[in-house]
Amino acid sequence: MVLYLREFETFPVQTCLYAEPGEIAVEYDSVNGVNEVVIHLNIHRSSDEYYCRGTLQANLQLECVRCLKKFDIELTGEMDFIICSMEAHDRYLKEAVDDEDYVFFQGNELKADITDIVRQTVMLAVPMMPICSPSCKGLCSHCGADLNEGACGCQVEKIDERWAGLRDLLRNNNLENRG
Ligand SMILES: [Zn+2]
Ligand SMILES: [Zn+2]
Repeated sequence: MVLYLREFETFPVQTCLYAEPGEIAVEYDSVNGVNEVVIHLNIHRSSDEYYCRGTLQANLQLECVRCLKKFDIELTGEMDFIICSMEAHDRYLKEAVDDEDYVFFQGNELKADITDIVRQTVMLAVPMMPICSPSCKGLCSHCGADLNEGACGCQVEKIDERWAGLRDLLRNNNLENRG
């Protein structure tokens, strides 16, 4: 994803960028692919630095951690970074240390490749444990059947959590009485 700042005659300016399916690669096990990304940016200019702020909308295909089915999801993220030349950045860094995200111009074309910062923003928006639906029942741990499609008929022994809780309570009471 390349931003050509020479296209704009005056600042501030609003622009919209679009990434084709597959253009942004995210190396997460749960991410099956990035379908498309749309970015809306406001760009302000301050001498030789360009302040970019805006929103990102990404359509991704994820894999559900419970049932392993692939599903599409729309994610959003905030973008906030500065585009400038490497020289301007070094000059500025002598004056103050900051924690801004920078993208540097390539050559003298006022051209910046923002692919990496877009990828980072998409990665931040991906949930740690993606699930296709909050009510997803997952797979049977015995036969692997998708429990969303109905019970599989396996006889699974379950520990009754209510009794386990009572047992712990009694044990704690005994300890307290003894002390
Ligand atoms: Zn699922
Ligand atoms: Zn089963």
